[in-house]
Amino acid sequence: MSKIDWLTQEIDGLKEQGLYNRIRTIGSAQGARLVVDGKDVLNFCSNNYLGLANHPKLVEAAKEATKKFGVGPAAVRTIAGTTDLHMQLEARLAKFKGAEDVITFQSGFTANLGAISALVGKEDVIFSDRLNHASIIDGCRLSGAKIVAYEHNDAEALEDAIKEHASSFRRSLIITDGVFSMDGDIAPLPALYEVAKKYDILLMVDDAHGEGVLGKGGRGIVDHFGLHGKIDIEVGTMSKAFGVVGGMVAGNKTIIEWLRQRGRPFLFSSAVTAPDAAACLAAVDLLEESTELVDKLWDNARYFKEEMKKLGFDTGVSEPPITPVMLGEAPLAQQFSRELFEEGVFAMSIGFPTVAKGKARIRVMISASHDRDDLGQGLEAFARVGKRLGVI
Ligand SMILES: *Cc1c(COP(=O)(O)O)cnc(C)c1O
Repeated sequence: MSKIDWLTQEIDGLKEQGLYNRIRTIGSAQGARLVVDGKDVLNFCSNNYLGLANHPKLVEAAKEATKKFGVGPAAVRTIAGTTDLHMQLEARLAKFKGAEDVITFQSGFTANLGAISALVGKEDVIFSDRLNHASIIDGCRLSGAKIVAYEHNDAEALEDAIKEHASSFRRSLIITDGVFSMDGDIAPLPALYEVAKKYDILLMVDDAHGEGVLGKGGRGIVDHFGLHGKIDIEVGTMSKAFGVVGGMVAGNKTIIEWLRQRGRPFLFSSAVTAPDAAACLAAVDLLEESTELVDKLWDNARYFKEEMKKLGFDTGVSEPPITPVMLGEAPLAQQFSRELFEEGVFAMSIGFPTVAKGKARIRVMISASHDRDDLGQGLEAFARVGKRLGVI
């Protein structure tokens, strides 16, 4: 017996259940097409919503910043790792989003870890949507606060939970995803805000999939609902629609000031590099100049969803570009993904524990980088594989 035998058994179990992650490697820049494991395929997988990950203006900005600042951050933000690009980026993001202030982190994941654990502790309670993202769940656990999960997107259930629990704790925090990453449904933020206001509780939304997607020209979920100044903490990412990497927290300036003092990933882990910050700044420039990319993204998403429904697929309730294609059992979803790949379409299957058992799916990520021919090719492949596997 070796002390890691249990791991081998667990891994074999994952393989038997169709839940083992086989990691494909990308051999090209991001775009509508990708070289995946050496094969040229249509890309239906990446979070590169606006096609910015390989946009010439972002690439050029990163090159220029590399020439000036080099490639490494060399220190955490609070010591010697804050360049003027980082400062400009935070100021520009705050202006873009109509928020009082913004702090950036290495990623959306660390933004959640840092923000939640700085705002609540052992004497406090967090009301968390049942389907919140893993990084929110981990942030909640890290904080040591009591976690009360309320029914998904249900403001009444949230209020009931607050009535039952809030008075036993020092302070409370409500947290929800903005766009839920697996189903693509949008949190009922105005209703959640009414509850937060009634009980005078901090409200935090993680808008990772809404950043650059929802709201006017991609200004995010707070803009989408016209709730400027009302949502205390809006987490976002620059790793998805922005096409670069990094996380952010936008909101009340006192909260942001506190996170600069107590957001642990900000204090104890090096920041995104100057070239990353420069590329993000170029992304803000593009989004401020025109809504063209965001409009194209939504056009593409609407078209693809409609055509998939006509073919007979169940694409769930999503309005945003995230398009779940519901298949049920994980092995079927995995086989569907493999056959799509053979047809030249790269679309990943997603199973437990990312989604509930029996809710396995292919998740199609539509992008502004797709044109109608790309979408047509994807639809044809879905139709062929769907018929072959008896799904439609
Ligand atoms: C993707 C995602 C994150 C993580 O963002 P990164 O910048 O990739 O770390 C956090 N929260 C939600 C809801 C996400 O979808």
